[in-house]
Amino acid sequence: MTATRIDGKAFAARLRERVGEHAASFEKATARKAGLAVVLVGEDAASQVYVGAKGKATLAANMASFEHRLPSDATSEALMTLVQQLNEDDSVDGILVQLPLPDHLDEQSIIAAISPDKDVDGFHVINAGRLSVGQAGFVPCTPLGCMMLLTDRLGDLSGLEAVVIGRSNIVGKPMAQLLLDANATVTIAHSRTKDLAAVVRRADIVVAAVGRPQMIGKDWLKDGATVIDVGINRLPPEPGKEKGKLVGDVAFDEASEVAAAITPVPGGVGPMTIAVLLRNTLVAAHRNAGLEAPADL
Ligand code: NDP
Repeated sequence: MTATRIDGKAFAARLRERVGEHAASFEKATARKAGLAVVLVGEDAASQVYVGAKGKATLAANMASFEHRLPSDATSEALMTLVQQLNEDDSVDGILVQLPLPDHLDEQSIIAAISPDKDVDGFHVINAGRLSVGQAGFVPCTPLGCMMLLTDRLGDLSGLEAVVIGRSNIVGKPMAQLLLDANATVTIAHSRTKDLAAVVRRADIVVAAVGRPQMIGKDWLKDGATVIDVGINRLPPEPGKEKGKLVGDVAFDEASEVAAAITPVPGGVGPMTIAVLLRNTLVAAHRNAGLEAPADL
């Protein structure tokens, strides 16, 4: 078998286009743009790139982008005050505080200060709670993006065996919850799981969110499995090259011999994350305006 490559990049581009069209209609209906505020504390190079990319994507989707940069020695009070101002600002529908924060700032208390109805990252405990009891809230962007790729590919997931490897609050746990809500039979595996390969081999759906390069080989996979690779890992550079290659948690080439479908890295899950962030922001804008969000978002 040669697996179908699940093209997250193309899927994300279509989602961004739909968000852009609906955002233009939202502006016509409400005489204001949907708005996303992104807060960056410090000068972390990767975070600066992410924040820049999010701002550009927000503008391209016909929404307003507000960027707030604080110095790396910003106090917790200064950050809290800014979050409070954004909570009260009617032109801001979504607030994202770029993580990681400098060590002296407590991420959990900053996230807790964001209004749950503007928490488009879905990291607030209220939104984690809403997800776990089946209420409408905001779901973290990466697992929601994975879910979109899975349902697009497989349709109804009822009764399928799903194994999620990784149990972080931002990927593994919400992913497992979404699969459970879709009536899959879900196992969450982690670093203490015994005989992980045997556990994974049971799965019709494998979601790998570990952060270990090419850990999952073809011997771990059941014939015909659908594999979603969330991992982003950089290999050491080859001689003469400045940067190493980006790879996922799954050994893509050999896994493709066994799986029915698989996401590549890069070009799979990665592009979905920003597209879903824009989607969540537009959903927040509709809710904040008392409107129903479009069904195809
Ligand atoms: P975390 O480091 O928070 O979690 C990793 C999880 O993997 C933990 O639950 C850990 O188990 C588990 N784990 C670690 N080693 C093993 C092992 N040998 N066997 C089984 N399980 C193991 O990572 P994140 O969830 O934040 O991210 C996971 C990966 O996804 C990373 O590569 C990250 O870069 C990528 N990522 C990609 C995104 C995208 O947009 N595509 C967005 C977010 C993340 P334990 O809990 O027992 O320690």
